[in-house]
Amino acid sequence: MTEPAVASSDATNIQCRIERDGDEYVINGHKWWISGAGDPRCQIYILMGKTDPSAARHQQQSMILVPADTPGITIERMMTVYGYDDAPHGHAEIRFDQVRVPADHLLLGEGRGFEIAQGRLGPGRIHHCMRIIGAAERALESMCQRAQSRSAFGSTLAEKGSVRQDIAASRIAINQARLLTLQTAHRMDTVGNKVARAEIAMIKVVAPNMALDVIDRAVQVHGAAGVSQDTGLAMAWAHIRTLRLADGPDEVHLETVAKLELRKHR
Ligand SMILES: Cc1cc2nc3c(=O)[nH]c(=O)nc-3n(C[C@H](O)[C@H](O)[C@H](O)COP(=O)(O)OP(=O)(O)OC[C@H]3O[C@@H](n4cnc5c(N)ncnc54)[C@H](O)[C@@H]3O)c2cc1C
Repeated sequence: MTEPAVASSDATNIQCRIERDGDEYVINGHKWWISGAGDPRCQIYILMGKTDPSAARHQQQSMILVPADTPGITIERMMTVYGYDDAPHGHAEIRFDQVRVPADHLLLGEGRGFEIAQGRLGPGRIHHCMRIIGAAERALESMCQRAQSRSAFGSTLAEKGSVRQDIAASRIAINQARLLTLQTAHRMDTVGNKVARAEIAMIKVVAPNMALDVIDRAVQVHGAAGVSQDTGLAMAWAHIRTLRLADGPDEVHLETVAKLELRKHR
């Protein structure tokens, strides 16, 4: 979906064109941050572009399958995240120049790209949250182990009041986020993703911010080792920081929560 030339948190901005030509569609566009495209096992892309720029705002877009070896596709470079290349899957910048695919590669039908994106993004977002909570647990575990095995100024770090407060605050925050994730999962199962959209939006904001706080405290307890390649904390922080942007920036989810909350009190 994402394109360098436009604010892609608003997917109606997408410029990539998918134009029908006989039994084929012709694709022209420029994408970046296409996760997984760098993996040598990746053989097919799911691309979102506009089939009809004159249609209603959310019916201009379609999704189409594009075999990765189709002529006209150029992987320009792999993006790095705070210097990490995230190999093997990577995040590619890709140009599509007169790329032709059979017409039956279109998913669901012309103008239904948004519908597909909405269907995927709810489950995708909560899946991020579950993994984020796992990363926060790992960070807290390593913070506790480090605090009990390292001494400074006459006592272990685990005996310092400020470190104990950081440990307690981290446990509280993880449990809060876990419970909101479970509630969201329960609502998705029982009332469906559309009705549960407020909870999905909430947890997509809560989980990464919570984990970034926990990881930052763990980094502090580890000293310089925390920012190095030895502990995994630096990489976890870099990865989770991207989840305040990917699959919708925090502000877009906060807007959803605010809109639904205000609607209750009209
Ligand atoms: C590691 C990584 C992997 C990714 N993988 C993929 C992928 O596989 N496929 C894909 O299509 N994309 C992917 N993305 C891209 C990601 O989804 C986009 O970066 C995201 O949608 C934001 O779009 P943008 O970067 O164009 O930011 P913009 O749309 O330019 O937004 C910039 C900033 O504007 C602010 N903003 C936006 N809307 C509002 C608002 N309503 N109110 C207040 N402030 C606002 C926010 O702070 C936002 O961060 C990935 C990104 C990263 C970092």
